[in-house]
Amino acid sequence: MELNDVSYSWPKKPLALVCIDGGDPEYLQAGLRDGIIPNIARFMEEGFYQVAKGSMPSFTCPNNMSIVTGTEPKIHGISGNFFIDPKSKEPVVMTGPELLRSRSILGEFSREGAVVVSITAKDKLRKQLQKGMDLSSGSVSFSSQHADKCTMDENGIENVLEFVGQPLPNMYSAELSLFVLDAGIKLLEEKKPNLLYLSLTDFIQHAHAPGSEEANSFYIEMDKRFGRLQELGALVALTADHGMADKSNESGEPNVIWLQDSLDEKLGHGACRVICPITDAFVGHHGALGGFVRIYLEKEQDRKKGSEIIQTMEGVEKVWTAENVAKELELPLDREGDLAVVADKRTVIGGSEKDHDLSALKGKRLRTHGSLHEANVPFIISEPLNDIYLKRAGERTLRSREIFEYALNGTKI
Ligand SMILES: [Zn+2]
Repeated sequence: MELNDVSYSWPKKPLALVCIDGGDPEYLQAGLRDGIIPNIARFMEEGFYQVAKGSMPSFTCPNNMSIVTGTEPKIHGISGNFFIDPKSKEPVVMTGPELLRSRSILGEFSREGAVVVSITAKDKLRKQLQKGMDLSSGSVSFSSQHADKCTMDENGIENVLEFVGQPLPNMYSAELSLFVLDAGIKLLEEKKPNLLYLSLTDFIQHAHAPGSEEANSFYIEMDKRFGRLQELGALVALTADHGMADKSNESGEPNVIWLQDSLDEKLGHGACRVICPITDAFVGHHGALGGFVRIYLEKEQDRKKGSEIIQTMEGVEKVWTAENVAKELELPLDREGDLAVVADKRTVIGGSEKDHDLSALKGKRLRTHGSLHEANVPFIISEPLNDIYLKRAGERTLRSREIFEYALNGTKI
């Protein structure tokens, strides 16, 4: 199967690729240290492990699309969780399948007759993941969030709760992710799919640090299921859409740059609009704060002045013009603003203080993502690489978008 200049081998045995949402490599380090993830530890030892780079911004939608298309946002078009439509000037949520500009590995294999399973925790991702998938001959696509609403027409499967033997998981729970894995295991047992893409949610990682009791128990539960996938004969590949980092200061308050407020003051009210493209309908756990924002200026001549002002702010790591960010981070230029800004590892950038509801944090430390630092993600394959791919992997840092290629073409099986 050929897609975006990569040719993919037909799966020799079922491939289960799991995207551990927010699965920062630090959680694995803590898990290894505490000896609680024996299956992952075995994959790392017997198979392959590297810390790879995900796509920027280090958000959920862009990276899920990079993984399933094998390309960067420049090609697939999904460069955030929402953007400003240049014509209407209105914010547009980037989860619509019409915004995805590339075909996907899942879609192409399903159309060539493979049985493909795509399961995601949150339904917002499902339609994009499902784009181009042929569900008429055994392939399925659904979310655990809406597992009670599946139909043969829309999802290629029905009565999912009975099939999995579990109640509908809560939207904000570890179970929303574990249901994805359990459904994948059940499908592997009964339908023998060729390819499974299992995409989880970062609810636990947003709230709990690596090594905490809550994070560890989530990793213990995931690890058992990864072991089961392998036991059932699957090649298991694990990566993440993005990492996760602590963004609070010593007294537990989040380190926030209220960029809209500052720029209103320094460039004048109405001179710009700061967009935090991490925002989605589920802002509860991160207050819509992340490490990457776009700025849309009223007057293009404010670019230089705006950029100079932002560069001097404490906690800002880098400012780009739209053209430079598109080039450097492989983003689609027509979905950029005028400037793009990333924060450093310990800081987040918000718009206007009054627009961000931080009450959901309830005194907890802010953990979130979006910056260059959370683009570090694990890249794990349960089988050893063949000589060609081992050599390639040794020459540079891998990109998470290559994991399908490495899992399908690059192992010794
Ligand atoms: Zn995510």
